[in-house]
Amino acid sequence: MCLSLVGAMVLTLPLAATAGAASGAAGAAPAVGRAAAPAVGRAATSPTGSTHDGQGSADLPKVPLMVGGGGAVSSVDRDASQVGIDVLARGGTAADAAIATAAALGVTEPYSTGIGGGGFFVYYDAKQHKVTTIDGRETAPGTFTPTVFTNPDGTPMDFDTVVSSGLSVGTPGTPATWALAVKLWGKRSFSQALAPAESLARKGFVVDQTFHDQTAANAARFAMFPETAATFLPGGAAPEVGTRFTNPDMATAYALLRKQGPSAVYSGALGRAIVAQAQHPSTAPGVSVMGGQLAMRDLRAYRANLKAPITSTYRGLDVYGMPVPSSGGIAVAEILNLLAAYDRTTGVPLKTVSNEQFLHRFSEASATAFADRNRWVGDVPGVPVRALTSKAFAAERACLFSPTTAMARPVPFGSPDGSYAGCPASGARLPEPREGLSTSNLEVVDKWGDIASYTLTIEQTGGSGITVPGYGFLLNNELTDFDFVPLSAGVPDPNLPAGGKRPRSSMSPTIIRKDGKPYLGVGSPGGATIITSVAQTITEYVDRGLPLVDAIAAPRLSSRNGTEQAEPALFDSPDGAALVAMGHDIASTPEIGAVTAIRVYGHLLEAAAEPVRRGGGSAMVVHRWW
Ligand code: GLU
Repeated sequence: MCLSLVGAMVLTLPLAATAGAASGAAGAAPAVGRAAAPAVGRAATSPTGSTHDGQGSADLPKVPLMVGGGGAVSSVDRDASQVGIDVLARGGTAADAAIATAAALGVTEPYSTGIGGGGFFVYYDAKQHKVTTIDGRETAPGTFTPTVFTNPDGTPMDFDTVVSSGLSVGTPGTPATWALAVKLWGKRSFSQALAPAESLARKGFVVDQTFHDQTAANAARFAMFPETAATFLPGGAAPEVGTRFTNPDMATAYALLRKQGPSAVYSGALGRAIVAQAQHPSTAPGVSVMGGQLAMRDLRAYRANLKAPITSTYRGLDVYGMPVPSSGGIAVAEILNLLAAYDRTTGVPLKTVSNEQFLHRFSEASATAFADRNRWVGDVPGVPVRALTSKAFAAERACLFSPTTAMARPVPFGSPDGSYAGCPASGARLPEPREGLSTSNLEVVDKWGDIASYTLTIEQTGGSGITVPGYGFLLNNELTDFDFVPLSAGVPDPNLPAGGKRPRSSMSPTIIRKDGKPYLGVGSPGGATIITSVAQTITEYVDRGLPLVDAIAAPRLSSRNGTEQAEPALFDSPDGAALVAMGHDIASTPEIGAVTAIRVYGHLLEAAAEPVRRGGGSAMVVHRWW
């Protein structure tokens, strides 16, 4: 469609981008955001040339906003988004495209994703009108005990030492997730889904600043492991920006997976290579790291699990998130419930308040939700999910809120016990657990209205630092997401390690419906800041009326029940000063999250991605309108 037609069409549709008017929720057509405007005009050409197999659509530019029909993909990477678009263009479903995109991210974002990691997949099946999730989280060896990360004197082991060791490596869940998603919702085979990634690994991609910087930041760690150095530090240093980076070993791994299916990992040669490295990592002369406990029996026992989503409502929307072992769905639901509850306790709706009051409320809701998730959520039986996500619990928790003064951190946890009246004496104050800052999120919508919202990770940027010899992919360090020792003596900690347990996650791939129809898919990387980034994007869009790409670009605040983090654009602003005056303890941090999202307006799709953070993401549609 030519642009003048698009313009004519837009003029006939009610655009609703007035700040404070809840335009996101009510708008009938996308409102192009300020953040997207400059980037649309300077669309990059394909950095790789044609890395896909040439049967798909033409190469699309790297932009943070694209609107059109026929399907959409939003990811952090242009090549990966293009792979997904090509799958959609050839009749693949959102599941087919999501898995192809994820596998491509394994090549171009090898420090955040890949065969050696895990993740969480939320899927809306338009035909069944049903949202289902796949828990593809990495899992602890059966031999793990609650003190596996504890020194003999009872202190926690050094975190960074455990990260770069075999002890942090859990059974990868990503290959099983891919196989299950394609089997349940795909039209293509597992092998077909991985074909573009194999080709991309073989032909390579052009190194951008983000890849260079992530490699350089990990260079000393990567040098500890000869296989990692040989793969990711060619010539002994981080590859230069603009050069082509190939990973033939990873192409071999993908070829094997395509031939043998996920059993290559769970009972075959790839699995044996993973276990050997996890137990006895190969290190450079003079370097020694701890070996781990992962065994073939752990891999053979692994299952990616289908689970019902966390469901909640917000401003008339139905919100579906990831259940345990992720805390993402529960925490996002509680934050949104608290924001609605503050409307009631103050009598002033969020959409009408000043920006500083909006940020204050968001901060208080986030801190409260983190207090509760740290006490109650983990891969244990009996997590009070219904109570934690109920409006009644939020109403009780809202009693601590003051519109003028920040609650003292850490906020005490609440009692999700089904009995909510008054403002009960609160639970203990727990410190913040430590979490990494890596990961990648992608969103896909197909022409049938199916939505895939998928966050995948190898935990820290660069994972454990251990590359599987001959196969070119890094092993995760996901088991460092367990609490090494209880957060507070005498308070049960649901996130201690145990045999066969999955560490608690913050990953929050989210799908939203309105009146039963697809509305939004959204998610982010960023460790514990994932929860706040996703919740902030939803509320900036739904309540504050920002166009989607501006909601993604908005300066972030991450309040997780300790010192808060704010990006410089917020920290150095009058809003930042106003928050400090209310008693918020805030530190400036360069960058938080990198959201991707797709808004569905029937057949019209608005794909949006991060304009700047992590070098900017890549939003694409099959038939581009603008
Ligand atoms: N390990 C983190 C989690 O599951 C994700 C990794 C990250 O984003 O740093 O929540």
